[in-house]
Amino acid sequence: MTTIDKDLAKPMLAVCRALYRRQLVAALDGNVSAKQGAYILTTPSGVSKGFIRLKDLVLVDAAGQVLAGTGRPTSELLLHLEVYRQRPDAAAVIHAHPPVATACSIAGLSLAEPILPEVVLTLGAIPTAPYATTGTPAMAAAVRDLVSVYDAILLEQHGALTIGRDLWDAYYKMEKVEHAAWTVWLAKQLGGARFLPPAEVAKLTTLGIRKGYRPPSATPPPGIG
Ligand SMILES: [Zn+2]
Repeated sequence: MTTIDKDLAKPMLAVCRALYRRQLVAALDGNVSAKQGAYILTTPSGVSKGFIRLKDLVLVDAAGQVLAGTGRPTSELLLHLEVYRQRPDAAAVIHAHPPVATACSIAGLSLAEPILPEVVLTLGAIPTAPYATTGTPAMAAAVRDLVSVYDAILLEQHGALTIGRDLWDAYYKMEKVEHAAWTVWLAKQLGGARFLPPAEVAKLTTLGIRKGYRPPSATPPPGIG
């Protein structure tokens, strides 16, 4: 297969437009990829996700070599390839700049604490990867350890990264990151965010593992599972 599969391209274009409509990316920002067998379909660099077309998409192999498409692959291709290397179960990766979540990382407000039950259940936590220069191997290195355990990660001073079983799964996780950030920020304005008790976190974690929400490589905390 060295042609672009329309059945994979179609949801990718829909996800790109949804990211733009929801203002999770602006201008030419953000990048989306999906894995199919040994190949990875990715958005190109320099194209707005709101106006992207099928002919803009680029197909690469696991080493990033272009197999089909006329554009250049996203400048964050190394980041995407790193996720697929660490996570054989990953079928889609999204990097976006959700404004509230990004603002939290700029202000040093962590989203890793157990505050929202839905986040603990489905994502475990939303940790923050240390700052690295966009589009460089350092960015891939910065997320290397976290992506094997978490499906949603803040990138310090930059944006967020989500990993999914398919494109829509990765998209909804990005929506959830932004919604969680917005809610936690509001709670802080209202006097502070209370943490869920450890016993409830343990219960939600066990439930999340049982329902298959957590990445297969995630090891349950001691005494859980
Ligand atoms: Zn970015």
